[in-house]
Amino acid sequence: MAEAFLTRRSGFSAARHFHIPSMTGDEAERTYGHTGAHGHDYLIDLTIRGAIDPVTGMVENLDTMKEVLRREVADHLDAVFLNRDIPFFGKNAPTLENLALYVHRRLESRYGEALHAVALAEEEDYRVELRAGREEMYVTRTYRFCAGHRLHRPELSDEENRACFGKCNNPNGHGHNYRLEITVAGGVDERTGKVCRAGDLDDVARREVIDYLDHRNLNEDIEEFRDLNPTAENIARVAWERLGERPGGAALYRVRVYETDRNVADYYGR
Ligand SMILES: [Zn+2]
Repeated sequence: MAEAFLTRRSGFSAARHFHIPSMTGDEAERTYGHTGAHGHDYLIDLTIRGAIDPVTGMVENLDTMKEVLRREVADHLDAVFLNRDIPFFGKNAPTLENLALYVHRRLESRYGEALHAVALAEEEDYRVELRAGREEMYVTRTYRFCAGHRLHRPELSDEENRACFGKCNNPNGHGHNYRLEITVAGGVDERTGKVCRAGDLDDVARREVIDYLDHRNLNEDIEEFRDLNPTAENIARVAWERLGERPGGAALYRVRVYETDRNVADYYGR
């Protein structure tokens, strides 16, 4: 059946702390980073699916989506202290994952089968997503590095190289400010409220990819690119292979590389 997907963004700000009765202070620090009372601006993307109405040309009126987001999310969660004001977070750690589960449940009661995805971002570099029909939650962390490269293949003539790689074929090389997203997938641990510890994923990502590639000449300095063209696709693939199957403790799902804001490659290694 043909169908369309419609996404509407909304936001709210909420406060929380991580004092978990069954955890020592040290364990909580390791699990959550900052445990004291603090707040975040959250961004939510609600995606619904359905047939396009033949008269209005819409899946749903955006004003209705706006109203549902206001009633079910913003009015309910904006300017609250999650642990104290929302009973669910008296029992469950107020992690981004649990907040996404909570918001998803409220929106599901309104949309049922039409609810396709709920994505929630806590800051620019930390985002989780729940999708219809998938048990696992997707957790994405974003990192940045700078590196130089030259796209050039000896099998091709100089003219073919220029035609194929354009500016990236410049004989003396050039650089990019790369953005790299790592997405892992898994169930939310009942005790910690997390798919994996963000700090553990960050440690692996920095050691294996970011520190390894940052401020390098990819062609000259990086073993993997001795005979492999350092395109965004191949950078994503090398990152995938170096990260291993479960970086930080959850299954690797996708590596995404932005060479520029307008040029992005995704790699799925399985
Ligand atoms: Zn380039």
